[in-house]
Amino acid sequence: MSSAPYPNPQAIFYQQYEAVRRDEVVGILLALFLGTFGLHHFYLRRTGLGVLYCCFCWTGITTFLGFIECFFMPGRVREFNAFQAAGIAAVLGISMPGWGQPMNVPPYAPQPQAQPQTQMQPGTLQACPRCQRTNAPGSRFCAGCGAALQ
Ligand SMILES: [Zn+2]
Repeated sequence: MSSAPYPNPQAIFYQQYEAVRRDEVVGILLALFLGTFGLHHFYLRRTGLGVLYCCFCWTGITTFLGFIECFFMPGRVREFNAFQAAGIAAVLGISMPGWGQPMNVPPYAPQPQAQPQTQMQPGTLQACPRCQRTNAPGSRFCAGCGAALQ
């Protein structure tokens, strides 16, 4: 066991995700050059399909299918990666980061609370004694002239 402090869930997420994620270019190249043997299916853990392609690799059909499928590989790889990421996030109990976006918000950071000051509450608006401007509830200084409120 490591004595290092427990890494944050984000770090674990990226570590695990990097280990399982697949590369679109690799997927395309596998389908194009080794699709005959279903390597692009094994790559995305579609073992059944991969075995099927291996069985029919001598027919030439799988070569043709591999050529066609290389156009679909980017989408399949993204889908695969999204699935893996969702699974890891679920295990770690963190919210799924926006797909394709860097996860730059710590999952356990306190969410910014909706500020009641921004809500219109007619009874608590404060009128400035100097310029009569109405200020948001809780304001200590006037937004218009800077005078102290109450
Ligand atoms: Zn004022």
